[in-house]
Amino acid sequence: MFTLINLPYAPEALEPVISARTLSFHHGKHLQGYVNNLNAALPGSEFDGLSLEEIICRASGAVFNNAGQILNHNLYFTQFGAPVAGDAPRGALGAQIAQQWGTLEAFQAEFVAKGAAIFGSGWVWLQADAAGELSIAQYAGADNPVAHGFKPLLTFDVWEHAYYLDYQNRRPDHLKALWPLVDWRVIEGRYAR
Ligand code: MN
Repeated sequence: MFTLINLPYAPEALEPVISARTLSFHHGKHLQGYVNNLNAALPGSEFDGLSLEEIICRASGAVFNNAGQILNHNLYFTQFGAPVAGDAPRGALGAQIAQQWGTLEAFQAEFVAKGAAIFGSGWVWLQADAAGELSIAQYAGADNPVAHGFKPLLTFDVWEHAYYLDYQNRRPDHLKALWPLVDWRVIEGRYAR
């Protein structure tokens, strides 16, 4: 059985970019729904007792979709915090981004452009391969780096439920505004694991 994660910040902490109202629906309704759906599907199935990552690597259809959405949202919600001006990735992650993109701004511009270009619902990710090489990937629906053998580091949700109450159709503006909320210490920790 899986449980809904607790948010590591107050409901208003991410305003105005992610309003408390958006957070209440996104975490309390959408993510809770994926948790409920997966828990209902597991008993008696071959996936009962497996981790989310194991389910994602083996399942298809509704089980894959609900497990994928739980993993995606757990990583999404726990990568944010109250805005910090001028924060940037440090250490091995900072060095790797500098090596591959030159500047953080160049990386961010490609990430936002790829997120904005996803047709319909999905996720844009920063992912790493086994050698630590980084890439920005677009995945549709509930798909994610884990299903393709990559380590998931950072993700922006481009399903409309993530931004429509606050930004309506302005997805690129929403994605650009997320950067000050990213807790780079969390992303560095995921890269180091
Ligand atoms: Mn979502």
